[in-house]
Amino acid sequence: MKWRTKPVETVRPSRFRPPFCPWPDCPAHHHRGRGLIRYGSYSRALDRRRVPRFRCRDCGRTCSQQTFSCTYFLKRPGLLPAVAAGLQAGSAHRQLARSLRCAKTSVTRLARRLASHAVLLQARLEAELPPLAESVVHDHFESFVGCQQQALALGTAVGARSRFVFGPDPAPHRGSGRRPDQPDGSAAPWAESAAYVTSIRRSLDRLLRLAPEGQRLVLVADGRSDYRTALKDHPAAKRVELKAHPNPIRGPKGSPRSKEAIARDRAMAPVDQLHQLLRHTCAEHKRETIAFGRSQPAVVGRAFLTTVWKNLVKGRSERRPDRTTPAMALGLTAAPWPWERVLAQRLFPGREALPDSWRPLLGTRTSPEGRPAAAASAAEPAPPHQQACGHRVGRGDQAGGVRAAARSARRASASRAIRSISRSKISAWNG
Ligand SMILES: [Zn+2]
Repeated sequence: MKWRTKPVETVRPSRFRPPFCPWPDCPAHHHRGRGLIRYGSYSRALDRRRVPRFRCRDCGRTCSQQTFSCTYFLKRPGLLPAVAAGLQAGSAHRQLARSLRCAKTSVTRLARRLASHAVLLQARLEAELPPLAESVVHDHFESFVGCQQQALALGTAVGARSRFVFGPDPAPHRGSGRRPDQPDGSAAPWAESAAYVTSIRRSLDRLLRLAPEGQRLVLVADGRSDYRTALKDHPAAKRVELKAHPNPIRGPKGSPRSKEAIARDRAMAPVDQLHQLLRHTCAEHKRETIAFGRSQPAVVGRAFLTTVWKNLVKGRSERRPDRTTPAMALGLTAAPWPWERVLAQRLFPGREALPDSWRPLLGTRTSPEGRPAAAASAAEPAPPHQQACGHRVGRGDQAGGVRAAARSARRASASRAIRSISRSKISAWNG
């Protein structure tokens, strides 16, 4: 895959040439244009370094070297790889803020930027994949957003041999199983499986595009009936071979596994390993945590960051001293990438083959220069708020005073707006 080896900001200003116009509505953004010319420079407030500016010959608008860097508009660019590594090492935002000596809101903002970058990078990786020549193991990872009534299943598909992780797909539902707030045995019926069926269909559509023409896609899954439902009316159902491994009844912990259990564990190992890693390395998916995700786009975006980490940074096996990453196994990269390389260049949504369902994850829209668009500023991250299940999370309101009251009112209105956005997004995902 064509990718910078060194971050854009480390290129000497005299050597740097913008590869295209960064403005999305300019013809030179997608196609080869008449080029960009030097247009002065500015001094970076951070280190007084001169950053060259350029002017597009097609649209007449300007940009700078920093426009093409992942660290555009950041006062502390060094925080970005550190936050990425910390998030994948199981730290929550506040813990990271303490160790990196920055505000926790900075970590939240950077996490959002990293998530957008991961979504675009995953789209680039999937566009560059060779034709699918292995079976794909699929299962849902169960988590929740805000409170346990808002359960969220993340559909995860993993290449059986390469262990390449495909983009996760959310299936928001009401939650089933035993919960302290529900009387025993009143688990929600499987009527809610519509969310799973929709999510499986979306994943199937993407995987079928990667399978070579005229060949069948082998999908390995557990015994969930939603796979058969998703395939029933699917126009390309004939191209999918479903290998179901129902979860067998197991004895008490430590008892020997039955033959069926061994076969199921062997077939589902790639996706089981990913789910263990998600629980182990992501603070928001740990059991009984107060670091749970506050909004669906944030949780799914973080899942994309884990996906990119698993594909490009981390070796395939946790036990063996084999440093081969899934991307290396598929011939996309030649070596494991450090975080600095993952963040070596900025990706632009207009230039990537992005599935429609991934677009809402890109968050606030920014201009190529990095300044948030005025209309988008209202969609700032969810402030900590009173959760439906009674958890009080985050900072309480400061002591009295007119200012504090005004601030609290502003937060409440932003929180209402965000909740209504999340609701509409959930219905959009399920639609
Ligand atoms: Zn232009």
